[in-house]
Order: sequence, then structure tokens, then C-alpha cells
Amino acid sequence: MTDTLAPSIPAFTKVAQERRVVTAIPGPKSNALHERRNAVVASGAASGFPIYVDHAHGGILVDVDGNQFIDLGSGIGVTTIGHTDDGVVAAASRQLGELTHGLFTITPYEGYVRVAELLAQHTPGDFAKKTVLVNSGAEAVENGVKIARKYTGRRAVAVLDHAFHGRTNLTMAMNYKSMPYGLGFGPFAGDIHHAPSSYPYHDGLSGAEAAERTIAFLEKTAGASDLACLVVEPIQGEGGFMVPAEGYLPALQRWCTDNGIVFIADEIQAGMARTGKYFSSEHLGLVPDLVLSAKGIAGGLPLAAVTGRAEIMDASHPGGLGGTFGGNPVSTAAAIAVFESIETNDLLAEAVRIENTLKPELLRLQSKFDIIGDVRGIGAMLAMEFVQPGTGATTKEANSAAVSAISTYAFEHGVILLTAGTYGNVIRFLPSLAVSDELLLDAVSVIEDALASL
Ligand SMILES: *Cc1c(COP(=O)(O)O)cnc(C)c1O
Repeated sequence: MTDTLAPSIPAFTKVAQERRVVTAIPGPKSNALHERRNAVVASGAASGFPIYVDHAHGGILVDVDGNQFIDLGSGIGVTTIGHTDDGVVAAASRQLGELTHGLFTITPYEGYVRVAELLAQHTPGDFAKKTVLVNSGAEAVENGVKIARKYTGRRAVAVLDHAFHGRTNLTMAMNYKSMPYGLGFGPFAGDIHHAPSSYPYHDGLSGAEAAERTIAFLEKTAGASDLACLVVEPIQGEGGFMVPAEGYLPALQRWCTDNGIVFIADEIQAGMARTGKYFSSEHLGLVPDLVLSAKGIAGGLPLAAVTGRAEIMDASHPGGLGGTFGGNPVSTAAAIAVFESIETNDLLAEAVRIENTLKPELLRLQSKFDIIGDVRGIGAMLAMEFVQPGTGATTKEANSAAVSAISTYAFEHGVILLTAGTYGNVIRFLPSLAVSDELLLDAVSVIEDALASL
């Protein structure tokens, strides 16, 4: 199978790893596609960067006009090991010709089992673990909550301020920000309690103080004995890449354990080698009861997982978990290739390399431009928070205008730069681990020009 299918792997996946702007951005072909799109695609599914991608490889996107962009977003942390990674393309192509769909809950196949074994091996904690595979991050969150409710026999769910967990009905209710994720889309699921989080740049609290605040809030508003689970992003994603104060999450975890609350780590953005560990929980001294994976797990193919303590995962009756496409064979083949690549190419070290190259540059920019209030993050998950001029030491007033101006400037100069933050004032870096130091430094020079042009 491999030999006959290998030649069909497109040769265009070999893309020179360089930035190249050859037309106005967006170019004429992208503009033409955009007109067609506007006639038939729902406006709710909006695009941040209206260039139409023709192909991609490694850290470079090539649009239909032949422009080459340094991709520092990776489709929001999905192509963590690089676009059209050779191993993923080969494994998925081969699998397509062998079994495209099986429906694991009808007639199972090995790939699903293998991914569950790999997740049991690589998620934190050395206890017996089990996994269920689904299609999307939001679906993983839904299933994590569902399993925790069944296990505990309790209803209520706790989440943290600045959280993002998805776009389904339950997860919309779990998000902090209503615009754009929830506004007008209610009524929402009930029994969700939003508690204050740890945001060291703004609250100045130690981990212990912030945990005390969170716990006091939840005990008052929800009641510990009513809570089925606490769902946290160990490093918050859409909220702005906040790394919590030291000891904050372990203290919450202890409180959960003491009160029979399932501790769920939403590692959908921060997991799968993004931070230089398989899961960001490892940096923070956390061993979650359940870990949610999605985004980077299958190199761009849709796959998500709930992995955790066997006794919790097994709380559901047979048939209670599943879904038609969950754990699709092509996606699981791709996920196995991702795990293999992390091992054989020592990709955890690549995330550390990216931090070692990029973070000093961001700190250098911070010392030069006072609107950069904070530089934070771990591995290939870094961010800069922008404030109004002169407020960095005082009110730290959000500066979203600077962020959109920089992102637009970068786009027009061939760099895809994502924004984030509850107040839209954060630039986040989610490069693939295949992005070279040279490309990172080239992107930084564009950002520096953008800052100078403000
Ligand atoms: C993206 C994301 C989700 C939702 O994942 P989808 O695949 O878009 O449903 C949930 N949690 C976090 C932390 C995310 O970054």
C-alpha cells in the first residue's frame, strides 16, 4: 500500500521556508475568491486574514497569488509539528486507502486503541488511564463534563475567568467572553460557575492568594459538594496566554481532591508538545484527573480526546460515549505519526529552542516600546500584552488598537500573527515547531518595523 500511494503525495509540499510577498495583500486571486465566498459562506464564519491558501509546508503558507507567509498561528496551534508534515501525510494517505471510516463503536480498529495507549503513556500521572476519542475540542470538553457528572452524580461545573472552551451550547456557557462566542446565541446551559482566576500581570496575587480567592468564591456561590468538576486551561489560550502564579493550580487541585470534584485540564491549546512538554500541566506541578486534547494532536486532521483516571472514565455505561466520526481511522493514523515525530525528531526540544530564540527578542522589544506591558508564556506558546502608553507601571490599560495595527502590518508584510486576550490586546505566538530561528527572527524584524510605524 505504502509504495503505490507514496507517489501521489503532492510534490508541492516542498516549499522554500522563506517569506515572499509578490502582490498586494490580499492579491487579486484572493480578492476574487473572497467575492465568491461572500456570496455563499455565512458571515458568522469570518476569516481574520482573507488570503486564500493554496498549499503549505513546515512554517510557510502559500496563497493563491504565490505570496509566502510565515505562519506564527499554525491554525491556532493545530499544525504544531508543521504543515503537511511528511510523516503525517504519509500515514494519513496510506490509511485513506486501507480504512477510511470504521465507526469504532460498531466495528473497531487498531489505530483508536494505539492513540489511547499513547495518551495513557504521555499524559501526566502514572495510574491506569482510559480514553475516548471525539472530533473537536468543544466535544472533548462536553464529554469531560459529561463523564465527571456521571462519576460524581453531581451537576455543577466550575470554570475560570478568561477561559475559552468552545462553541457548542455547553461550552459557550463555560466561556468568559460573550462577544463573539456567545452573544445572542442563548439560552445557555445552567449550573456553570465562573470563578476569578490567576492573572499575575494584573492581580499581583501569589498562587496561594489567588487560589484562596477562587476557592472562597466557589464555596460561596456554588458549594463544593455540588460541583462535579473544575475545568481549567493550565495556560489560558484565547484569554491571552496567562501563566498562573506558582502553586495556584496545584492548590485548586488539592481542594478538588479533598472535595470529590473532578479536576479537568483543558490542554486543547497548550498540550501536545506546544510548551516543550507533552502537556503544559507538567510545567505547573499538575496531575489532572482528566486531560482534554485536540488541536495539535493529529497534525491538522480533526481529532480530540478525553483521557483520564480509569475509574472516572469508566463511570459511563456502555454506549454512553461515542459519535459517528469520533476517532476516525485517518485522524488516528495521523495522531500516531505526530507522537512518532515528537519522539524521533525530539520536538519537545524544538519548543524549547523556539522559546530561547523568541522570548529574548520579545523582551528586547518590550524594553524598547513601552506599550508592551508584559511578555509571557512557555515554549512555543508566547505572548505580548499591549497597554496604553505610560500605563505599564500603573493601570495597564488595554491597547487593542496597537495589536490590530501590528497584526495588519505583519499580514501585509507576509507574517500571520494572531491576536488574543479578553480585551483583544494580546499578540500570541503559536509557531509550528518546524519554524526555524531564521524565520522567527525575520518575523520579529517585521513586528519591530510595525511597532516603529505606530
Ligand atoms: C480551541 C479550543 C477549544 C475548542 O476546540 P474546537 O476544536 O474549536 O471545538 C477548547 N478549549 C481550548 C483551550 C481551545 O483552545
